[in-house]
Amino acid sequence: MAVVGGPAAAGPRWRLHSTLARSEANGPGVRFVVWSQGCGLACAGCFNPDTHAPEGADVRRVADVVGEVLATDGIEGVTLTGGEPLEQPEATGAFCAAIRRRTDLGIIVLTGFTRAEVEGDARRAAAVADADLVIAGRYNERLRLGSGLRGSSNKEYWALTGRYTAADLAGVPEAEFVIGADGSVTLTGMHRWEGGPR
Ligand code: SF4
Repeated sequence: MAVVGGPAAAGPRWRLHSTLARSEANGPGVRFVVWSQGCGLACAGCFNPDTHAPEGADVRRVADVVGEVLATDGIEGVTLTGGEPLEQPEATGAFCAAIRRRTDLGIIVLTGFTRAEVEGDARRAAAVADADLVIAGRYNERLRLGSGLRGSSNKEYWALTGRYTAADLAGVPEAEFVIGADGSVTLTGMHRWEGGPR
């Protein structure tokens, strides 16, 4: 990973559910994943209801999370998911801008808002301006998919750059188990577990 530029500004505070430094089930390649905390969109069958309440977040500085990404070797990119990343557009946008400015990492944002809802709102549109790919739209459990990153077939792959191909996205594993140095086990990816991550 090429890193450029000087120290990032502290940036806005960011309500997070969790982060994972290396995941292979949240986009092409190995990725640093950020789960935001808080989502009011209430999709039936959401994989990750623990991320809905705005309370109980791990409140971080954007610059601190950027610093963790910069310290992580061997990743292809970052993925922002949730929760709803675009309910905190300033923090999401500041993070994406810093990653774009300071690295050559790819950026993927998963949102429950549709592309029209993002493009029609200046704050949301600005938040994804530095992304390579936005995966947009409510999750619909009746249209659930077992592969790729959309979760359900009504969701849209919205490519802002040509970095990721359809083949890249189709090849993303449906699920993974990540065992931490402390023995903790994280289940992630698009596979559905009751009460598990999305
Ligand atoms: S699927 Fe995403 S947008 Fe829908 S309720 Fe769950 S976290 Fe929110």
